[in-house]
Amino acid sequence: MDYIAERLDCIEASGIRRIWQMAATMKDPVNFSIGEPDFGAPAEMKRAAIEAIESDKSGYTVTSGLAQLREELAGRISREFGWSNPSVLITCGLSGALTLSLMATVNAGDGVLIPDPYFVSYRHLVNLNGGKCQFVNTYPDFGLTCERLDKAADAKSKVLFVNSPANPTGVLYQTERLKEIAGFAQRRDLLVLSDEIYREFTYDGQADSIGHYYENTMVMRSFSKCYGVPGWRLGYVAVPEHLSGLADAMATLQQYTFVCAPHPFQLATMAALQCDISGHIADYHRKRDMIYDGLKDKFDLVKLEGAFYAFVAAPGGDATAFVEKAIKNDVLVIPGSVFSEQDSHFRLSYATSDEMIAKGIERLISLV
Ligand code: PLP
Repeated sequence: MDYIAERLDCIEASGIRRIWQMAATMKDPVNFSIGEPDFGAPAEMKRAAIEAIESDKSGYTVTSGLAQLREELAGRISREFGWSNPSVLITCGLSGALTLSLMATVNAGDGVLIPDPYFVSYRHLVNLNGGKCQFVNTYPDFGLTCERLDKAADAKSKVLFVNSPANPTGVLYQTERLKEIAGFAQRRDLLVLSDEIYREFTYDGQADSIGHYYENTMVMRSFSKCYGVPGWRLGYVAVPEHLSGLADAMATLQQYTFVCAPHPFQLATMAALQCDISGHIADYHRKRDMIYDGLKDKFDLVKLEGAFYAFVAAPGGDATAFVEKAIKNDVLVIPGSVFSEQDSHFRLSYATSDEMIAKGIERLISLV
C-alpha cells in the first residue's frame, strides 16, 4: 500500500535536495542561501513573550486572533488604505495566509497568475489546491507589465499574486507600475493577493501597495522578517469590508487547520508594533550596496531595490552547473529553477554578516 496521497506528486524536491547534499560537504562555507534576517527580535518583544509564557497565556486564542491585536492592525490598515471597516485575520505567518487564501478561493482548474520568478510556495500551494499555475515570464528585468500579464492570462484566471519587494529578485514595483497592474486586475475582475512580507526592506524609497489602487486586494503581511522572528509564526491578512466574506471563509478554514496563531507571540507582537527597526534596515541598505557594487561589473544583475536577495544571471546560462561550482568553492547559493520555470539565474541572500558578504563576493568573482 502506498500511504502517500497523489497530491504530493506535484511537488518536485529532488533538485534542491541534491544541492543540500552537496552543501553538507562544504568546509568553510559562505552561506548565501538563508531566507531570514540575521538579527534577533527587539528586546521589548522578547520580554513580552517571556512575560506571556510565564503568566500562562498559553491557551488557544479565538480563531481570528486576539481582538486587541486585530483592532490595532485594522486601525492601521484603515488609515493607510482608507478602508472604512477592514477585516483582519491573524495567521501563522504569511505562509498560513497563503495556505488559507488559496484553499478559500481556488476551485479545480482556476487560473492563478504567478509572476516568474516567484516565491516557491505559490506554485506548490496552487497545485495542491487543484488550481492551474499561470506563470508570467518577467525575464530579464523582472518587471510585471500588462503585456506580460496578458500573455499568461485566460478566461479561467481568477487570482493574481503580487509580491513587492520580491523574493527572489529584490525588485520593487513603483507606484505607476502598481497602477497598471491594478488596471489589468480590474479589467479581468481578479482577486489580487499582495504579499508584502518585505515591505520594510526598501533602500531607495518606500514600498507602495497595490491595495491603494485596486479594491479586490487581500493585503498579506508578516512579522517574520521585519522583527527577526520567522519561527514565531505571526502574520495577518487584511481585506476591505466588501471582501469580509473571504476573511470569514479563511477563519473557518483556520479553525480546522492551524486553529489560531501562537498566543504568547500574538501578545509579544502587540508590544513590538511601536518598535523602531530602522537601524536594521540601514544595515541591510549597506549590505545591499556591498552586494550590488561588488557583483555588478562581473555579473548580470538588475538593480536591487528591496528584500535581501539578488537574482543573478549564471555565467554560462546553466544555474545548477554554476551553483555546483560555487559550492565546490565554498559559496552556497540556490539555483533559479527552485523559483522559476527556467534555470538561468541563481539566488543569493545577503542576510548575513558584512564579513561573509565580502568573502562571498570575492569567491563568486573568482568563478567568472
Ligand atoms: N512570502 C515570501 C515572498 C517569502 O519570502 C516568505 C518567506 O521566506 C513567505 C511569504 C513566508 O513567510 P512567513 O515566515 O511569514 O510564513
